Amino acid sequence: MSIYDLALPNITAIQAYQPGKPIEELERELGISNIIKLASNENPLGPSPAVLSAMADACRDVSRYPDGNGFALKAALAKKHQLNINQVTLGNGSNDVLELLARSFVSSSDEVIFSQFAFAVYPLLIQAIGAIPVISPARDYGHDLDAMKRLITNKTKLIFIANPNNPTGTALAPEEIKDFIESISSKIIVILDEAYVEYTTQTVNTIDWLDTYPNLVITRTFSKAYGLAALRVGYSLSHIDVADIINRIRQPFNVNSFALAAAVVALMDNDYIVKTRELNDAGMQQFKLGFRSLGIDFIPSKGNFICVNVETDAGHVFEALLQQGVITRPIGSYNLPQHLRISIGQTSENERCLSALAKILELNYD
Ligand SMILES: *Cc1c(COP(=O)(O)O)cnc(C)c1O
Repeated sequence: MSIYDLALPNITAIQAYQPGKPIEELERELGISNIIKLASNENPLGPSPAVLSAMADACRDVSRYPDGNGFALKAALAKKHQLNINQVTLGNGSNDVLELLARSFVSSSDEVIFSQFAFAVYPLLIQAIGAIPVISPARDYGHDLDAMKRLITNKTKLIFIANPNNPTGTALAPEEIKDFIESISSKIIVILDEAYVEYTTQTVNTIDWLDTYPNLVITRTFSKAYGLAALRVGYSLSHIDVADIINRIRQPFNVNSFALAAAVVALMDNDYIVKTRELNDAGMQQFKLGFRSLGIDFIPSKGNFICVNVETDAGHVFEALLQQGVITRPIGSYNLPQHLRISIGQTSENERCLSALAKILELNYD
């Protein structure tokens, strides 16, 4: 008998999420410094001084529990998005909110639809509940809403849409998503995961749809464009009733005081978002030009990362890049064994990544 036999079979079947390799780990392994990490879609600008000072101020109250209701941050988000404060739910990263939603609405006999190549956290959450994953084939690496619609049955309880999607960077036009929601049963919860929305040029405000569709939930995060990945803070915007339901199983203090304080300040710092977008647009252009001159194919991306087809085992290329002190992300676990996902970094980091890639693939690059 093994302890594994005691655990739930749906849990032992799970392959744990593989995070990007931490810089310190590679330092330890190779004994080198000057490592760059382009592996976790983090903001290369680093934190703004205003955020650091808000966190320092929060230190004074470290012996107190955080505000379990997250009032100040929820009020700031409600104001920014012109919603009722009771439509906002905070999470320990948006992953936390995704889990609250899945646990609140999905039972083991329910089906959950998501796309091939969609964010890896969705199947993990579904497996943890023991629900039935229904994977819709991708179209051009992105979500195919028509295919998703055809997979709906009377057991479908939840549909995940990542827009833009990670790891592929593909994005749907908001109008297409709206038509999709309009066309399906309001008994199906639709989670629109907008972790990268700040990077897009999308002008339609999807939040306006919440009035019309009580089954729609929008999730966003401070981990990406807002540059607060380490703090773990994200949120959902939804109908008040959805927020009330998921709030019942939320851990009472799921967002810590530093994260709350930092996020309030970050939300007001529009300059930081503007700078972030400018740097990302320039870096995206730099990578695209670089890949084109190297003659390697990539998936056009709307996020702060880009997937390149190295036309060989991407795991080997990933390892070779590590030797050069460059951390990227192989995505073999998504069944894309020849693709590497590269986060957009600072100009000099992007340059280093491109020339290391050229050297490894023995391509001419100037
Ligand atoms: C990074 C990411 C998230 C957000 O994760 P956090 O838990 O908020 O750090 C959510 N969805 C997608 C698609 C992501 O790539």
